[in-house]
Amino acid sequence: MAEIITRFAPSPTGNLHIGSARTALINFITKSKNINSKLYLRIEDTDKERSTEEFKDNILSSLKWLCIDWDNEPQIQSQNINRHCEIANKLLTDNKAYKCICSENELNERREKINSGKITSKKICVSCENNKEVQSLKKDYVIRIKIPIDGNEILEDIIQGSVEVDNSEIDDYVLIRKNGTPTYMLSVVVDDHDLGVNFIIRGDDHLNNYFRQKFIYEYMNWKVPNYAHIPLIHGEDGSKLSKRHGAVNLMDLKAQGYLPDAIINNLILLGWSPKNQDDEIIQLDNIISKFDIKDLSKSASIFSYKKLDYFNNYYLRQEKNLGLFIDYCQSNLHLQKYIMQDKEKIIRIFNTYKKDISKYEEMIKIAEIYFNINFEISKNEQFQEDFNNYFNDFFKLINKIKKWEYEIINLEIKDFLKKNNIKFPILGKPIRYLLTNDYNGPSITDIFMILGKKQSLERLNKYKI
Ligand code: GLU
Repeated sequence: MAEIITRFAPSPTGNLHIGSARTALINFITKSKNINSKLYLRIEDTDKERSTEEFKDNILSSLKWLCIDWDNEPQIQSQNINRHCEIANKLLTDNKAYKCICSENELNERREKINSGKITSKKICVSCENNKEVQSLKKDYVIRIKIPIDGNEILEDIIQGSVEVDNSEIDDYVLIRKNGTPTYMLSVVVDDHDLGVNFIIRGDDHLNNYFRQKFIYEYMNWKVPNYAHIPLIHGEDGSKLSKRHGAVNLMDLKAQGYLPDAIINNLILLGWSPKNQDDEIIQLDNIISKFDIKDLSKSASIFSYKKLDYFNNYYLRQEKNLGLFIDYCQSNLHLQKYIMQDKEKIIRIFNTYKKDISKYEEMIKIAEIYFNINFEISKNEQFQEDFNNYFNDFFKLINKIKKWEYEIINLEIKDFLKKNNIKFPILGKPIRYLLTNDYNGPSITDIFMILGKKQSLERLNKYKI
């Protein structure tokens, strides 16, 4: 595969969204297929009003958390303003751009006419380009690019295929605003060119921008990169994935206890499936060797939290990921308390319950039951007579156990059931309830092991027949 220079170019106007994380991931995977390829990170902070340092930090830490790495230091777009202006001025000199002084009102009137179909040409300014006075102004103008009225452009997009747009559909967009600052449309092309970017992988909400941006490449005689516009991800109701569907920011998913491996596994299978693989579990190394961006589907993919939960449950159950659970506990206010009190106990609770949970935060409620020193049975249930008849003997049996070990406790309980000829639910369910306030849950031996002998007896002792 040829050497690829690609980039991920988020605007720090919000926290890293799962959709953008997918774009970053696909960039990362694509560049990782060849050791000489590069992925640059550019923070596109030219919208000063909406960009913040916090959002920038959030984007960087979210990418790091997902193990998405980039080459060199992140580029900060606003530091290149002079270069962007230089190119705009070059386009002016080359007669590929013009100064415009149209007022907002004039532009709005014209825009209305264009949108209502009264005018077919998309040209938003018709008076400034040929006005010598305007063209010789020294300040208070915007710079607009000149787009030819005739002709068309065909983009051979790696994912979208052949896309054709008539030039008449493109307006003479602004390169430099009245206050002298460059627009995204200009900066992105200049920075990509200067970085040597030869492959642009981004969301398909930018597909139309290609037909605008390609003029700058053309006018500057710069080589146009290859493009792959990735379809956006939607929620299960078919609308754009948003907060309504669930957590959509990486750091929120992290706080809930999702693992990077699960998120990567889930994201990469949206619109792609590895060849010759039976199950859906696939990790980064394997993805890098099997993934080819050409195989990505061009239709929008549905993001399912149920699927994410399935993958997360798979990864959190792995013995090798226990350390991630401990890290999570240390970062979570509730669990931190428990891990400081008794690390072994919280690990035992986790190992007992992990098959049934889809994310770490579910452990808060579960652990609370076991760490509660003032535990009370929520309602004073009176169990069946059968149970009451056996309870005192069962209590004595548990009390007599000297070695508090799983096998021993398990065997004692089995013997007890056998000797008394009782079916497990008659005894097991009420005992589980007395120990955890829940009829359902892990085996009572597991629960005894978590609580330890003293606490188990204390809890059982609260039951008065
Ligand atoms: N900064 C743009 C955005 O966050 C991305 C521009 C691009 O990839 O060309 O949507």
